[in-house]
Amino acid sequence: MDNCLFCKIVRGEIPSRKVYEDDEVFAFHDINPLRPVHLLVVPKHHITSLATIVEADVPVLGRILAVANKLAIAQGSPDGFRVIINTGRVGNQEVQHLHAHIVGGPDPVGPMLKKIN
Ligand code: AMP
Ligand code: ZN
Repeated sequence: MDNCLFCKIVRGEIPSRKVYEDDEVFAFHDINPLRPVHLLVVPKHHITSLATIVEADVPVLGRILAVANKLAIAQGSPDGFRVIINTGRVGNQEVQHLHAHIVGGPDPVGPMLKKIN
């Protein structure tokens, strides 16, 4: 995807604060961290969202979750973390390249969502 922000980050065309890379995934600090630890883990190949995955994407989805714990520990969230994958319009997904937010830090991140009436 020529014009995709996170594809450009993976290719190094846009700078990022990389924390991890392997053959399938790339992880970097969120530019606007919402907690002391706020990482994004993305597939290296373009996947728009969880709403567009195909069978061939299953291994990379597993890899994204499998690296989360060691990245969280390495970056300062040793006692747990939260994974968020915003998906589509209802999920308030802003960047149209699948990404898992890994959020944490020394203190609990707070309740899952605020209830709406
Ligand atoms: P989402 O709303 O789930 O699509 O989240 C998109 C995330 O990407 C937000 O938390 C942004 O702060 C983050 N973001 C946007 N541009 C960049 C960038 N150039 N480098 C790192 N994170 C970014
Ligand atoms: Zn992309």
